[in-house]
Amino acid sequence: MSATIMPSADATGEARAQGQGGSLEARNLVKDFRLRSGLKVSMLHAVKDISFTVEAGRTIALVGESGSGKSTIARMLAKLEAPSSGGVFIDGAPSGSRGRALERYRSEVQMVFQDPFASLNPFHSISHHLERPIRLHHPGLGRAEVASRVEELLERVQLEPATRYLERRPHELSGGQRQRVAIARALAPGARFIIADEPVSMLDVSIRLGVLNLLAELQREAQLGVLYITHDLATARHFSDEILVMYRGDIVERGPADEVILNPQHEYTMRLLEAAADPERHGALRDEVRRAE
Ligand code: ADP
Ligand code: MG
Repeated sequence: MSATIMPSADATGEARAQGQGGSLEARNLVKDFRLRSGLKVSMLHAVKDISFTVEAGRTIALVGESGSGKSTIARMLAKLEAPSSGGVFIDGAPSGSRGRALERYRSEVQMVFQDPFASLNPFHSISHHLERPIRLHHPGLGRAEVASRVEELLERVQLEPATRYLERRPHELSGGQRQRVAIARALAPGARFIIADEPVSMLDVSIRLGVLNLLAELQREAQLGVLYITHDLATARHFSDEILVMYRGDIVERGPADEVILNPQHEYTMRLLEAAADPERHGALRDEVRRAE
């Protein structure tokens, strides 16, 4: 992927200077899965005591090969999965896990999934997908107000004119357009934090950058905090302030994006970078790292 067509990082810095605060924090998150095979039960330590903070107006990339625990962290942050221990804090306070506190948390922390097709309902129109979260989180709004918010959301994700998309169903859109709808839906309840779990890895290479640029633009405009999960180091570097490198449930290296990529300290990061430079080696990476241990 060529870096020359990507946006400059300066705009991000400018927006950050106006920062309005707020943070989403993973504090000592642990997730163990109990695995059963016949009579044997074993424990899989999918996430081992992980801590990091996503601040408003910043993008943190979580990178690592498949199976390293990235999605499990995403699901715990989105409260789709309870941690075995540790907690999730928002603006420094423990996040609620039931009732109204959970509802409020869910409106503020939204997830964008890898597969936009699976995350949208094929039977519902695009407008329905966006109306629901708006109504749920702003029950006082009238019909006309909801409709104008839906159009506004579609315009924010550059699906214009909005009227062209309102009554369509997900299968009538391209993959990139569907992911834009998924992003609009994440914004609908007024999210301050977005957890994007491999948001472009299922999209055509040619449209990936457009969707990532959109996320970056929304992040700057609205001072969103973004956790960008990916195995693509090039976009992690370009679109993030900080990179966390995960390996088998641990964060083995973290730091400013350029530093991690240009001056990696951990052997696993170096191998990820080598594999990225040589795609044919990617599959063999896990075995190689294991042998090296
Ligand atoms: P990544 O997103 O980095 O590919 P995941 O978080 O999906 O990794 O998975 C981390 C590890 O946890 C993998 O070994 C995976 O098989 C395992 N795992 C994930 N979810 C479950 C589950 N519900 N039950 C058992 N094992 C799971
Ligand atoms: Mg995953």
